Order: sequence, then C-alpha cells, then structure tokens
Amino acid sequence: MMQRRISQQISVGGVLIGGDSPVVVQSMAKTFTSDVKATVAQIKELEECGCEIVRVAVPDAEAAGALGAIKKNISIPLIADIHFDHRLALAALEAGVDGLRLNPGNIRDREHIKRVVLSARERNVPIRVGVNSGSLPPAPDGGLPIVERMVGAAMQEIRLLEALDFSLVKVSLKAFDVPTTIEAYRAIADKIPYPLHLGITEAGTPQRGSIRSAVGVGTMLYMGLGDTIRISLTGHPREEVVVAYEILKSLALRDRGPTMVSCPTCGRCQVDLVELAQEVERRMATVGRPIKVAVMGCGVNGPGEAKDADIGIVGGKGKGAIFLKGKLLRTVPEEDLIETFMSEVQKLTGQ
Ligand code: SF4
Repeated sequence: MMQRRISQQISVGGVLIGGDSPVVVQSMAKTFTSDVKATVAQIKELEECGCEIVRVAVPDAEAAGALGAIKKNISIPLIADIHFDHRLALAALEAGVDGLRLNPGNIRDREHIKRVVLSARERNVPIRVGVNSGSLPPAPDGGLPIVERMVGAAMQEIRLLEALDFSLVKVSLKAFDVPTTIEAYRAIADKIPYPLHLGITEAGTPQRGSIRSAVGVGTMLYMGLGDTIRISLTGHPREEVVVAYEILKSLALRDRGPTMVSCPTCGRCQVDLVELAQEVERRMATVGRPIKVAVMGCGVNGPGEAKDADIGIVGGKGKGAIFLKGKLLRTVPEEDLIETFMSEVQKLTGQ
C-alpha cells in the first residue's frame, strides 16, 4: 500500500505543493522566453492540457525583461529557471515570477545567493534547489559516489537558505540514470521536510523518455515520494503533460481526462483496431473530464472490459458495438463507428 511522505506545504503562485495536496504537474516552455507572443501561446496550450505550473528559461536580460509581460498573459504560476547569473534571478523576482529554480552547481558565490534569497523572502516566492547530476559543484568530495555528491550539493544550498531564515523550498535531484535518481531522492527524503520535485533529466525522445520517466518517477511516487513532477522529453511540452498525467493516473494519484483501455489485438480482430484506438485517443486529447474508455477488438474480452468503462467500442466484422456504462447502446457499421462514438463521448463529457 502506497503511503505518501508528508512534506512541508508551500504555495507557488497559489498552487499548493506538498502536505496533503495532490501531486502537481509541471512543464517547461521551449520557446525563446524573449519571444513573449510565442511563449504565451505555448503556455496557453499547456494550460489547456492540464499543466499546473510552468517554467521558462531565463538565459539573459532580454528573457528576464519578457517575464512581466508573459506573467500578465497566462493563468498558471510562472517559474524562472536561472543558471549562473544571480542578477537574472533578481530581475525575475522584480518582474513578479511565482517561483525560482536555482542550480547550486551554477551560482556559487554565497553573497550572490544571499541577495537572491533575501529578495525572494521579501516577496514570499519559493525557490527550488534544483540539483542536476551533470552540473554539480566541483567539491573537494569529488571522489564520492554521485548520489552522495548530489545530496551533498542540495544539503549545502538548503542549509544556506535556512541560515537566511528561508523555508519556502522545494528540492529536485535529477539524473539521467534512473537508479541514481531514485537513490538520491530516497537519501534526501528523510533529511529534509521540504516538498520534492521529481523528474528524470534529459530522459529522451517521447517514446523512450516516457518509459524512462514512468519507471523512475513512477517508482518514486509508489515509494511515497514526490509532490510535483515534470517529465522531460525531447518534444513538444504538451507531451510532457500528457505523460505526467498518465503516470499519475496509473498510480491513482490524479484523475484527469480519458483513461483508455484498449486490447493489443490478435488474430480474432476484424476491425482496424490500431487505427481506431489512435483516432479515439487523438480526438479525446482535449477532454479534461475523467472518463474511462475501452476500445476492444472482438467479443472475447471486449464486452467485459467495455462494461467497466464509461463508454466502449467492441469491434466485429465490418461493424462495432458501442457500450455505455455497461449496456449495449447500439451496433453501427465500421465506417460510422468513430463519429457515433465521439458524439456519445460529447454527450457524456459535455466537451
Ligand atoms: S479483445 Fe479480442 S481482438 Fe482484442 S486481444 Fe482480446 S481476443 Fe484479441
């Protein structure tokens, strides 16, 4: 039985993270932040598919200068991702961002960190201590195992923040290697009360990256760790949000949009089920209301699975049966199956 680690709750622009809040889904815009129009458009797309907090890269003054305008035009909290230059963090705070992500490996001057922390404290803006295995500070403990180095880097930064009376903290310890990531999070979980932001960094292209992330993030969630997640994929960030929800739904931690049951097909299948299932998934991508959908190839397991779903299709020869809440609604020719099915979905969801 999964038991969640209860962390100290923080609010990022009104979205609660930690405590008994549901695990929050984040993503990151992939536009040039200085291009306000493109960035706002992408964030709006992310909002539509359920992204709850968005991060943007702030690599230069131009990007920092765009943050105010971006913030004004979006509805979800905005986090500025800062590396190297503490002045960009100060500018982001002045622009009104809801959170900062600082990489302890990339801003090392304690005086600079102090100035950022004091400004964040004044504004009640949380900071994520975001450790990446690829950019650890060159410590004298360079010979230590990677997990210890990651945890050590995070702890050093956390103690610095605590010394400045700052506790609006969340922590991430990301690596590409899944066991390393899991061990790092496990090692820090008992040492600190702060919420954990989970992810497998640079996980890869959507197919392979989703699998790596599902194994890594899914394992940690099942261990009870994690208050917010971001799935890093080499692709449109919309896919990150979809995968994040699929992971959370698989563990019954969140409920959003369609949950699809579809059979793998076999020699008994007499409809083009692959095409049918993909079309149903594509058409339902914008449905936000939780709904269980079954797309089954034949009458062997089909009616049974379709019975448990809110709505289901069971394929037959040149036709298909549509089930609604376990009851046969009607049988329609294969060519009308999708349209009839989608109009029933619309009636059910209002979307
Ligand atoms: S539901 Fe029918 S078509 Fe699909 S895998 Fe089972 S037996 Fe094969």
